[in-house]
Amino acid sequence: MANVADTKLYDILGVPPGASDNELKKAYRKLAKEYHPDKNPNAGDKFKEISFAYEVLSNPEKRELYDRYGEQGLREDMMHPLKVSLEDLYNGKTTKLQLSKNVLCSACNGQGGKAGAVQKCNACRGRGVRIMIRQLAPGMVQQMQSVCSDCNGEGEVINEKDRCKKCEGKKVIKEVKILEVHVDKGMKHGQRITFSGEADQAPGVEPGDIVLLLQEKENEVFQRDGNDLHMTHKIGLVEALCGFQFTFKHLDGRQIVVKYPPGKVIEPGCVRVVRGEGMPQYRNPFEKGDLYIKFDVQFPENNWISPEKLSELEDLLPARPEFPNVIGDAEEVDLQEFDTTRGSGGGQRREAYNDSSDEESSHHGPGVQCAHQ
Ligand SMILES: [Zn+2]
Ligand SMILES: [Zn+2]
Repeated sequence: MANVADTKLYDILGVPPGASDNELKKAYRKLAKEYHPDKNPNAGDKFKEISFAYEVLSNPEKRELYDRYGEQGLREDMMHPLKVSLEDLYNGKTTKLQLSKNVLCSACNGQGGKAGAVQKCNACRGRGVRIMIRQLAPGMVQQMQSVCSDCNGEGEVINEKDRCKKCEGKKVIKEVKILEVHVDKGMKHGQRITFSGEADQAPGVEPGDIVLLLQEKENEVFQRDGNDLHMTHKIGLVEALCGFQFTFKHLDGRQIVVKYPPGKVIEPGCVRVVRGEGMPQYRNPFEKGDLYIKFDVQFPENNWISPEKLSELEDLLPARPEFPNVIGDAEEVDLQEFDTTRGSGGGQRREAYNDSSDEESSHHGPGVQCAHQ
């Protein structure tokens, strides 16, 4: 099925499969220049290959298809991305998809006209393309290939009077078709739903499949990992120490109450699990994965409590370790706040100096920063 090792298009451009957009662009420009038909008339096929490889890899959706399914995944009209919400993948959903496709004309059975009406195009001798020679300068000619305008590249023509009225000789007509798409519970991002033989029809060709490629939309609350779900929940320090209760709405609309009894402690960043509240398993939807909740513990602001109350609190909390004995020379240093997103560069220090000139900081004595960010 999936041909994950297909790197042909990357090889054509001479870049590794993980190449950045910029690397691709650079490689393409260089090769396109080298193999351009103007400079290199015999390298037309090579130029086409290069252009095709770049066209695919520079398009994020096509590149994903290619990386996942190889060239098979790119066949025109084969893959249609279908965006689905996590709710739809949890609950299952049936949607109708309208598509316009070519079907063989029923009036002429896909012949384009009466029997024997189809004739080889004289202008291009049935090839569908015409070669034109253009003189650029005396002794210098350019060869150009263009689609034959007499037969529109078909290579054959039908006399106007013998032409099928319904399809105007095109052999196929556009038809609107409604496909019923069943998104089953537990289906996953990248999963394919295939409609056999529903692609465009053309004379003498077996119609291909229409393949829908599920693309899971991001959810604001839950992140999915296989059949498991992950969420983050913010709690205060009092809840982390004294127990809590909160509710959230699950993907099927149920209100879920999460209780954590007093006496049990939540450490910042820790994860707890609710068994059986993950995603339903595909084709076995009564079995479900687990729900992992990560706790983000919100600590109080600086100076949230008076010094007297703080010492009362300290009496209630587990005892602090004893001060280590300082022997010999020691240097006391300040601990300052800084913005981790801006790093610990010199600019931060300058800001701290500015802060210390504020009136407010005089209450705290030297070296204590009061940086509210
Ligand atoms: Zn017809
Ligand atoms: Zn022609």
